Amino acid sequence: MCGITGYIGKTNGLPFIIQGLKRLEYRGYDSAGISYIENSKIKTYKKKGTIHILEKNIPGNINSTALIGHTRWATHGEPSDNNSHPHNDCNNNLSIVHNGVIENYSILKAKLLEEGHKFTSDTDSEILAHLIEKCYDNDLLSAVRESLRYLEGPYGLVILSAKEPDKIIAVRNGSPLVLGIGEDAMYVASDVNALAAYTRNVIYLEDRELAVLTANSYRTYHFESGEIQKTIDKIDWDLVEMEKKGFKDFMEKEIFEQPESIGKTMKGRILKEFATSKLDGLNMRTSELEQIKEIHFVACGTSLHAAMIGAMWLENYVRIPCRCEIASEFRYRNPVVRADTLYFAISQSGETKDTIGAMQEIKIKGGKVYGICNVAGSTIARLSDGGVYLHAGPEIAVASTKAFTSQLAVLALFTLLIGRSRNLSPSVGMQWISEFEALSSNMDKILAQMDHIKSIAQKAKNYKNFLFLGRGLHYPIALEGALKLKEITYIHAEGYSAAELKHGPISLLDKDMPVMFIIPKDELYDKVFSNLQEVKARTCKVFCIATEGDTRVKEMADDVIYIPESREMFTPFLTVVPLQLLAYYVAKLLGKPVDQPRHLAKSVTVE
Ligand code: GLU
Repeated sequence: MCGITGYIGKTNGLPFIIQGLKRLEYRGYDSAGISYIENSKIKTYKKKGTIHILEKNIPGNINSTALIGHTRWATHGEPSDNNSHPHNDCNNNLSIVHNGVIENYSILKAKLLEEGHKFTSDTDSEILAHLIEKCYDNDLLSAVRESLRYLEGPYGLVILSAKEPDKIIAVRNGSPLVLGIGEDAMYVASDVNALAAYTRNVIYLEDRELAVLTANSYRTYHFESGEIQKTIDKIDWDLVEMEKKGFKDFMEKEIFEQPESIGKTMKGRILKEFATSKLDGLNMRTSELEQIKEIHFVACGTSLHAAMIGAMWLENYVRIPCRCEIASEFRYRNPVVRADTLYFAISQSGETKDTIGAMQEIKIKGGKVYGICNVAGSTIARLSDGGVYLHAGPEIAVASTKAFTSQLAVLALFTLLIGRSRNLSPSVGMQWISEFEALSSNMDKILAQMDHIKSIAQKAKNYKNFLFLGRGLHYPIALEGALKLKEITYIHAEGYSAAELKHGPISLLDKDMPVMFIIPKDELYDKVFSNLQEVKARTCKVFCIATEGDTRVKEMADDVIYIPESREMFTPFLTVVPLQLLAYYVAKLLGKPVDQPRHLAKSVTVE
């Protein structure tokens, strides 16, 4: 969600502020703005729309050493010039950018209005500028600290003051902020991606921490305990990974990257000699693995679909009872948390607020929670008792693709690990390992069918609705296929278990309701085939994803996309790829902004 950048240095910081915001564009936003100090005065420019529009509206000759920037994802007040950030106090002495929600803003605003403060926006954020103004008595740090006492709700906040132009202050409580340590400059951003081109040395602020940055120094504080020392982390990935590398969109690149990204996820994690895997970050001994009685997953969106598949694998092959839950639901239903249950939180960004909330609930109740995420150093990675990184490289497109298959890979590796510590024989372990080894080339075979999938997209693009049906492991894949299509094409799509069709959605079937069946050769094949016949009998267009050589399906379906044969357990890695491509090509044909679909954000940092 919203992006924050801040700079204090010895030379003009505008290039960083703008480039940094552009690096965060993928997170989704509706307006953009900057404030900077010029001749001891604060200047602010902000515009509804893209950073490009903002750039056209700012003077060409800005030269400032103290600046803040923001891309907004509106929560309070419509996207408009006035509601865009930064927001300033009554006397234009200070300017703030904010990510998150001030939950008690209406009470605070009423009080500030009563005291004569003048507001110019409908946002919750603007109260921050006025509150700090009210508390200011020639010491910005004290004013900020005093203001924080009144705030409820999550915030990432950066403050610029014309009265103390040599510093900026960054505050984190529930919304991520990272400091960048430069040579003759200090940077701050809501996401490490904004910093990578400027410095490799970063400090992740934790909740209830703040930092005072000057051109050549930084000091960090805890809200309650005073000054603290933080460790400097290194950004370890390559900037080239954040380029499109000749693809038209990041999503296209990320779909086609999967044979490689899944290889990176598995690298060094397979122990052939013992027919098992090793996941060092888990920090769990075999004896601890043995004590696990149940496994629960909390996640949202695409990560939840990966979790559903992981849960099925673990129950089926390792006989451990599993449960999967939408993180936001888990958190607020007062769940029972048990010491012999292993909890996994899954999130690509590692910043998903709902998932973090669920983790906190588990921890408060004395449970241990392990993270599966892609972004190193993210909040989930830091909150976890242990965890596994995806190592899939930065995922920029809002709609998740390569992270999904890498999440599956981690879950399959974990199934192998815990399976081998229990009932799974070395020979089955070895069979799985050969499947792991075949994954990349099997994915390549599917990606090579892109022209065929494009031709199906041509037919699919004209429908207003779409059903995705599958059973067993392919029920979550049906959900994921529907999610991808609705996310980026805005076509209404639903995923169902094919068996559920007769319990309701069958009434929707007619020639205007196309159905995508995920029907590889597996244990439930015959059952799904019957469902397929039921659909065909109702004049629907039927598309299928089936196993190579399946001619029976070909006779029934209008179009078939074939996946290579593989063990049942590994088919979800393959059936999802054509669905990602289909959504992508339909979106392209409809002229939709594939990488940044409307209203969506890459890392969902609000509840
Ligand atoms: N709640 C604030 C607003 O609506 C900040 C939103 C954001 O995080 O971008 O302006």
